[in-house]
Amino acid sequence: MSLPEQLHRLQQIDCDIRKRQQELDEVVGRLADDRALATAESELQSTRAQMEELRGRQKTLEWELQDLNEKARQTNAKLFGGTTRNPKELVNLEKEAVMLKGQIGRKEDSLLGLMDEVEELEARLEAITEEHRCLKEEWDVRQQTLGQKKGEIEAELEGLVQTRSGLAGQIDSQALTLYERIRMTRELAVAKVERGRCQGCHITVPTSQWQKSKAGNIVQCGSCNRILCSE
Ligand SMILES: [Zn+2]
Repeated sequence: MSLPEQLHRLQQIDCDIRKRQQELDEVVGRLADDRALATAESELQSTRAQMEELRGRQKTLEWELQDLNEKARQTNAKLFGGTTRNPKELVNLEKEAVMLKGQIGRKEDSLLGLMDEVEELEARLEAITEEHRCLKEEWDVRQQTLGQKKGEIEAELEGLVQTRSGLAGQIDSQALTLYERIRMTRELAVAKVERGRCQGCHITVPTSQWQKSKAGNIVQCGSCNRILCSE
């Protein structure tokens, strides 16, 4: 390989390294992107908390209802048990029984309403749990696939970097420095000459120039400054 050809080969390796590095960055980004799962998780948690709160309210209502029923039972026992004879007291007991009946009715209505809410939320919780399970499964599969892909790209990159350093070690250091300097401002530092034209800027290269390049000398395009590589 002539010197310009070596630099051209180096450039191909550098392009491959850049491409692989971009792929790696993308894979790493996708591996870390847990937004969908995190959203589903927080929704699941908040729905569970809501459920707990509703169940707590249901328990309280049930206890209150139990108390009211017990009170009503005691009042009715006094009212109809024959132990109370005092008419005024009987009237009061009757009033209390009516009041308790009203309270029990309202409490029962609230409890029924709450049970409807619980049922609705239960259905939602089930759907959210299922959705979360699917997402988690997808996430696990994706982590595995992407993790594998990451390993493959990393191995490829390692190989490319090794090849590059082997090749760079063989290239004249002045030419290598020039290559690196041009690469700081241009994506490609080496341009092929085809049908007499620089493939970097498409300007015609003087015959003497590309012949010099063909002979293995470092020649830069007069227009774009790239190192010319003539076959
Ligand atoms: Zn050029």
